[in-house]
Amino acid sequence: MSTATPPLDEASLELPAGAEWVDERCPACEHDRLVVFFREPQIPTNSCLLLASPTEATSYRRGDLALGFCPSCGFVCNTTFDVARAEYSQRYEETQVFSSHFAEFGQELAKRWVRDFDLVGKTVLEIGCGKGEFLVWMVEAGAGRGIGIDPGIHPERIETSSGDRLTWIKDFYDERHAGELEADAIVCRHTLEHIRPVRSFMQVIRRSLGDRTDVPVLFELPDVARVLEEAAFWDVYYEHCSYFSLGSLARLFRSTGFEVTGLHVEYDDQYLLVEARPSTTPDQGQPLPVEDDLNRLWLGVHTYADQVTDARKHWAARFRAVSERGGRSVIWGAGSKGVSFLTNLGLGDLVDAAVDINPYKTGMFMAGTGHEILAPDQLVDRCPALVVVMNPIYVDEVRAELDRLGIAADVAAV
Ligand SMILES: [Zn+2]
Repeated sequence: MSTATPPLDEASLELPAGAEWVDERCPACEHDRLVVFFREPQIPTNSCLLLASPTEATSYRRGDLALGFCPSCGFVCNTTFDVARAEYSQRYEETQVFSSHFAEFGQELAKRWVRDFDLVGKTVLEIGCGKGEFLVWMVEAGAGRGIGIDPGIHPERIETSSGDRLTWIKDFYDERHAGELEADAIVCRHTLEHIRPVRSFMQVIRRSLGDRTDVPVLFELPDVARVLEEAAFWDVYYEHCSYFSLGSLARLFRSTGFEVTGLHVEYDDQYLLVEARPSTTPDQGQPLPVEDDLNRLWLGVHTYADQVTDARKHWAARFRAVSERGGRSVIWGAGSKGVSFLTNLGLGDLVDAAVDINPYKTGMFMAGTGHEILAPDQLVDRCPALVVVMNPIYVDEVRAELDRLGIAADVAAV
């Protein structure tokens, strides 16, 4: 593989304490071994499911996490991920669209992609369209038609005046759909991180495009470089089996027959955006300077486990201090980050509940720890002293909501 970044020299790599080599093939580049650098046994295998009772939530099935790093391409994955344990169904409630900040970002991105890739009047295929909001925004921004594929789609929940231009397919995307769905652009947001065979997934998409090298392929997913450096353990959970950086993502795209035309980190450096098109020759196009990140990633791998230990101690002390003063604490955000945060800390009643603005989650319970999920209005009775927001990008939004409710809590972010 021709690349700007030579693989790390394995002979000279010093493994962090507790890490080990495993003979497992890299799902991204097919290198023959990985460094497992972080393990966490028995975490909930789904953190976005709507679970209706504390018992159902605490007894929800679990699986092991063993993060492996590929020294050849920088890809990180859960080497013990078992797809049979994951459940994607209509009980899966991942949408963040109830946050105005997230919605604004998505709407702007939809407009930008329609404009930059000349998609007015064209057909957009979204693989893993979730609850469909992004495809609606693309059509509202001028795309002619949208086809969304996702096993968790709820067509009846989609409110748009453009319904006649949208087609929803309740399924996983695979070879079966490759031939029949001709589109002028392929969009895939927050989906690749849920897929274990990432290389074959990209190859299926590439084959479906054949010689149509003018079709833009637009992906968005979380950035693992930030997760490693900030020891953002709440961003690591079972459903996310695959973790990319700018470099590892671009290397996968190039080696599976795409030319990378744009590569950015956005949304306060949390998300990777890659813009590509099918290439006719392998590894077409010059690698971009930002792809040269293997040494940076290796440094993050080295410090991750120790930093996670420190962060867990920090949060445990903070919640304990509130409790000792007779106060209550809640977390804000009952999605995957919240489940991972609570499961990692294991603090039980030191955290009173989780709050979420998604009305479909109200009255449900968090997988793993069984914390109740409240609507913001319900906080008035609980009167928390500390609110820990699961994503710093929402702090202003949360503070405004607390002000509206007349709650004078300390607001902190992970
Ligand atoms: Zn690799």
